[in-house]
Amino acid sequence: MQTQPAASHFIGGEYVEDTAGTPIDVIYPATGEVIGRVHSATPAIVDRALEAARGAQAAWAAMTGTERGRILRRAADIMRERNHELSVLETYDTGKPYQETSVADATSGADALEYFGGMAATLTGEHIQLGEDWVYTRREPLGVCVGIGAWNYPTQIASWKGAPALACGNTMVFKPSETTPLCALKVAEILHEAGAPAGVYNVVQGLGDVGAALVTDARVDKVSLTGSVPTGRKVYAAAAAEMKHVTMELGGKSPMIVFDDADIENAVSGAILGNFYSSGQVCSNGTRVFVQKGIKEAFLARLSERLGQAVIGDPQDPATSFGPMVSERQMEIVQGYIAKGQDEGARLVCGGNRLQRDGFFLEPTVFADVTDGMTIAREEIFGPVMAVLDFEDEGDVMARANDTEFGLAAGVFTRDLARAHRVAAGFEAGTCYINTYNDAPVEAPFGGVKASGVGRENSKAAIEHYSQVKSVYVRMGDLEAPF
Ligand code: NDP
Repeated sequence: MQTQPAASHFIGGEYVEDTAGTPIDVIYPATGEVIGRVHSATPAIVDRALEAARGAQAAWAAMTGTERGRILRRAADIMRERNHELSVLETYDTGKPYQETSVADATSGADALEYFGGMAATLTGEHIQLGEDWVYTRREPLGVCVGIGAWNYPTQIASWKGAPALACGNTMVFKPSETTPLCALKVAEILHEAGAPAGVYNVVQGLGDVGAALVTDARVDKVSLTGSVPTGRKVYAAAAAEMKHVTMELGGKSPMIVFDDADIENAVSGAILGNFYSSGQVCSNGTRVFVQKGIKEAFLARLSERLGQAVIGDPQDPATSFGPMVSERQMEIVQGYIAKGQDEGARLVCGGNRLQRDGFFLEPTVFADVTDGMTIAREEIFGPVMAVLDFEDEGDVMARANDTEFGLAAGVFTRDLARAHRVAAGFEAGTCYINTYNDAPVEAPFGGVKASGVGRENSKAAIEHYSQVKSVYVRMGDLEAPF
């Protein structure tokens, strides 16, 4: 497969190169091989992308919602038709197994394009009668939106930000993570093939400094970041200086609570989905697994058994169910946490090692007897490391589950209906699960509370974050004034 893109950037409806920018090697995480090279955007490229987005915005917003929506839905169809090749590329970009990428990446991007494409024609203001007078509201786009992505879901993030932004009549400049620069270019290509006018969706590559240049530019009206909490704080502060709108989808250290009346097989499935999908590189993962004492050993035994069935290997092989870490650096960060877990006295139940093969493979790792103060129970690891903590009763576990600066997601496994809903209501988290984990349908709002972010992606809620309401007061009679 051709992994070298036609050029580094996609601006004004075409591929654009500027080799004066710092080279960024694209590394296939399964082998460590260089499979492409792009260049970080120079100031001239950043300027060109923002001008293209600004220039295209008024005409794009002037189209009817039906017309904009048709283009987005056509893009969704193209994305689905090309799911195989997009999934293969996503696997090269991230190392995630094709078994996952073929059902979770371009498919999820297509869902967002279809959903917001369908919604574009339904966006309206309202009419408020005030006696004879009345007010009407106009739902207007924000203008130029900047999207900045993390490396774990490059196609999905580019689509989740682009689809609602474009549906509302905004244009976008998207900067992927330097670690995974390939997939967002395909999203831009497909949108333009589907009929999006030149400049409506642009992609520029770059390191954090390119992201920073975009965030601080006066031509930008909104910034949507998916990334870590420290980056979120910086980007939010920079955007606030010019009062820009923001959406922050940041990290987490989410709790998953397994009560002793839970179906063990389902709870183990939830723990696997919430810790080892994408080799654990998922922001909403339930990495603090609180297991009630009565079922702890049975849970651990079944979990170890099921993890033994993971097929670790060539991620392009559809039989492979567990792939490498995205980069050598991320692998080393996770290895550091595994060592810390052992140093601080957690019990290693399984895994813990790097695999003796090329690429950045770590074994799925489970620690038990983890206590609340341990580093692996407090910090986001962003790798295949699960911490299992014991608990006695509901009151105790709820306080401990919420005792974190993060608030992205949370899950509960129990057969007791009343308890399930009580626990969900008590979670300090934006996205909660009952007897499941990590489902993220486009129809449901997704996002965090506390340090995990502001704003919501997906669903009708995203419209509020990509549009603004203008009130127009209409007086029907004469106007009185005091003098
Ligand atoms: P980072 O926060 O390091 O980077 C995110 C993006 O921001 C990258 O494109 C990065 O560029 C860019 N960036 C870095 N510094 C700046 C800056 N000062 N101004 C503007 N942009 C900047 O996250 P990672 O890419 O390492 O992704 C992992 C993190 O993302 C995890 O902590 C995870 O929890 C979080 N995440 C959250 C999700 C959510 O929906 N809540 C989903 C996925 C991940 P560069 O490529 O140069 O680093």
